[in-house]
Amino acid sequence: MKYAVLSDIHGNLEALEAVLTDVAAWNPDAVFCLGDFVGYGPDPNACVARLRPVVAAAVAGNHDLAALGELDVSFFNPLAAAAIRWTQVQLSSETRAFLHGLPERIERDGFLAVHGSVRDPIEEYIFDPATAEVSFHARAFRICAVGHTHVPVVFTKHNDGVRAGVLTPETPLRIDPASRYIINAGSVGQPRDGDPRAAYLRLDDDAAHLVRVEYAVERTQEKMLAAGLPPALAERLAYGR
Ligand code: ZN
Repeated sequence: MKYAVLSDIHGNLEALEAVLTDVAAWNPDAVFCLGDFVGYGPDPNACVARLRPVVAAAVAGNHDLAALGELDVSFFNPLAAAAIRWTQVQLSSETRAFLHGLPERIERDGFLAVHGSVRDPIEEYIFDPATAEVSFHARAFRICAVGHTHVPVVFTKHNDGVRAGVLTPETPLRIDPASRYIINAGSVGQPRDGDPRAAYLRLDDDAAHLVRVEYAVERTQEKMLAAGLPPALAERLAYGR
């Protein structure tokens, strides 16, 4: 197994191109995408077109469904909702067809991939061990990759409960074949852990490595402002918050 896992691209083409260059150099067996292709960023159609021939499989995120009009945005914060309304107007028929066809989960030989959580693949955030514990019981898997929070983290199932661990490029996860894990791959297009670099996950039989890749944040910000997207969404990219 040698998988690249990309999540929460959010229409950020500059971040996606930088990540795909890094992924190509690693040469994985498969690339999986954990949803939120669109929303927030200025290039929803270009990001989907770029990823379609690259990904082996992908799941739907809440922003993807909201952009299709299949999920109510009344629970979104006002800036996210404004970006969704902008995105709804932009989506091409090809992009809509691709997003509409995405499943809620991917399962391959003990590997599970969802956007939010195992219990609620579209909308639930796993921020803490108690929430992760419920997902460990919701389905059989050895390693589950999630996104949605835009914050990389590892939850490990032990006999006496679930523990959260940091996941940074300097602290990869050594995989114990006897353990179970839920691993958050971070976000390609809108990191929220204080590091503005694009994030993705390299997963093989021995380890999970978080990779951070620099990209031209200013270029994405210029496009967002030119498109009339909320300036605060452009500003946050510089801080990774
Ligand atoms: Zn997202």
